[in-house]
Amino acid sequence: MLFTELGIDSRLAKQLSHQGIVEPTEIQSLAIPTALAGHDLFAQSKTGSGKTLAFLLPAVQRVIKQRALSKRDPRVLIVTPTRELANQVYTQCRLLIASHTLSVVKILGGENFNDQVKALNKDPHFVIGTPGRIADHINQRSMQLQGLEMLVFDEADRMLDLGFKEQLDVINDAANHRLRQTLLFSATLDHAEVNATSRNLLKSPKTIMLSDAHEKH
Ligand code: ADP
Ligand code: MG
Repeated sequence: MLFTELGIDSRLAKQLSHQGIVEPTEIQSLAIPTALAGHDLFAQSKTGSGKTLAFLLPAVQRVIKQRALSKRDPRVLIVTPTRELANQVYTQCRLLIASHTLSVVKILGGENFNDQVKALNKDPHFVIGTPGRIADHINQRSMQLQGLEMLVFDEADRMLDLGFKEQLDVINDAANHRLRQTLLFSATLDHAEVNATSRNLLKSPKTIMLSDAHEKH
């Protein structure tokens, strides 16, 4: 199976092949067509199974290929539990959009707030960050999510374990509910708080659950 057979643009697939990534993992082969079809998605598979590309490829493809549904950026917001994970997602996003005139901004806790306000004022297409600081920008009105088309909660289990429930609610409330598609990823199967939260954040989601036994490496 190839990424192009999942509906991924050949230019994106070529970019991946430069990184030695040619065959989708199981979670990618299931999540990518579902996300490209516009469904909300609740996906669970273990750490190291390739969840980052499972949401980044549909997100990048949406921005490259589909006309914006509104004039307001950002079109995609990706929320991750830690600075380290946000950096990893940011690096992969930069690689994928390298040959396109698209912009991505990182919004991390512990960094200069006003510099982030300036970066957000340039209307980036993608924002990737940690929940506390993103919620701060929403509360300070320095981040507007009225035009948001895709909202991704990466490692939702870890965000809830770290006590970010309130921040996730702030983000959910601020993000456009009519336009947006929401993808929620978890490394833990059957995490009670994730299950409860997913009911709040997702609209008629498709669910993908991969037990360890079915995991492909
Ligand atoms: P997860 O978020 O599920 O923990 P990651 O998205 O961080 O997993 O991916 C784990 C590693 O696997 C990363 O180094 C990534 O570059 C690599 N990887 C992801 N997808 C593929 C693939 N289709 N083929 C080969 N390596 C991949
Ligand atoms: Mg991950």
